[in-house]
Amino acid sequence: MDGEERIPFHSYITYEDAPPYTSSQAALLSRFTQLPTELQLRVLDFCSAPTLYRMMHISMLRNEAAKRFWSQPDTYYLVHARWLFSGGHAGYTCYDLSFMAYVQNVEIEYDPFCDNRIARVRGDDDYGVDYDKVRPFWRAFRTRFPRAKRVVFNKNWESWTPYDEPVAWTLKAIIETCPIDLEISAFALIEKSSGRGRRTVRPVAKNWHRVLFRLADDGRWREVTSSNFDRKTVLMPPKRFHGLVGEFKGILHRRDMIDLRKEGLRAIAIEALDRHYFWKEDPEPFHCPARGCHAYFEKAGQWTQHAAEAHMGDMLEAPPEILLRPVLQSLPRALQQDFEERKNNVIEGFEAEKGKLKKLFSDWNEEGGKKQRELERGFIHQLDNDEAWNTGVHVYNSALLREFRDMMDPRWAGY
Ligand SMILES: [Zn+2]
Repeated sequence: MDGEERIPFHSYITYEDAPPYTSSQAALLSRFTQLPTELQLRVLDFCSAPTLYRMMHISMLRNEAAKRFWSQPDTYYLVHARWLFSGGHAGYTCYDLSFMAYVQNVEIEYDPFCDNRIARVRGDDDYGVDYDKVRPFWRAFRTRFPRAKRVVFNKNWESWTPYDEPVAWTLKAIIETCPIDLEISAFALIEKSSGRGRRTVRPVAKNWHRVLFRLADDGRWREVTSSNFDRKTVLMPPKRFHGLVGEFKGILHRRDMIDLRKEGLRAIAIEALDRHYFWKEDPEPFHCPARGCHAYFEKAGQWTQHAAEAHMGDMLEAPPEILLRPVLQSLPRALQQDFEERKNNVIEGFEAEKGKLKKLFSDWNEEGGKKQRELERGFIHQLDNDEAWNTGVHVYNSALLREFRDMMDPRWAGY
């Protein structure tokens, strides 16, 4: 969701300042394993996720390390509600299903598609939830996350609600019908002093808060945190992209990841400017770097909020190199270079994936149609036989086949 941090699994298990592996470390590990078991376990309690992950693979304490790794209280693994609503089929996710089976803390991204799927609204007093569409959600959840203990629904958008309650009525219906023993919370977007009436004025960013709620036994929402909810939201590792279907979906998955990095770069550049002027002994007020804008910032955080409120439109439309230019030019040279490098990595990565997709596209559209027939046959055969890409329907009704054909069509303009 816009502006929220997502951590790829490989970064989550990587040390921020990785020490080079030396023989003295090996000696240290060997001395550690000679400690009494009780002490070793005590040490494990203080280990970071990257260390626990390593211990899970090398040490005699792998089971104990794994227990701690999977139950890290502030780490949540992200999954999209819409995938669970559509049955949680292997073919419609790029995440590793065997990894999913170990996950204990799940963050479910709840987007407007989910409301459209289950809400029946015909008027202000005529609304309901289609429970037949909620049940498959929990069935899919239970199959994919058999070890789950804690679930957070993340709903970061405003929706119409018939009740004066902080969490959407549709989300409440889903939570109330959970058939398994889970600790469920809803991370909601709340507007200060809002009634249930329709909006008449433009929302102001500073009036909005993110609050974590839990449903009490009496059916009311109880605030768990009153301001934000600190956690690490981790993107699970991808599955193996083998075969033609894997090649195609792998390209799309990596492009999605690059898009996230691109978005992240904007947020980091904006934040960097704020820190450059205010995170020092003598804070320096400054003018908005956007051309034609005369806003002036005297306190930390004002610029970030202003950028979100006043320049969000330009930010979403303009490519990062154009939008960020005035922001980057205001930063010290070393930081500028660092951003430049990151930006180039993102662009190069994107171009590389685009090249792979174009190769498939030109093979498919080669004259004579021989390659197209081969590709199509291969794609269908894999969909029909490979569990990793099962979509729960006959191969000819599979949305994966439709997506592949659409994107190979010469009229496709999505590159
Ligand atoms: Zn401005």
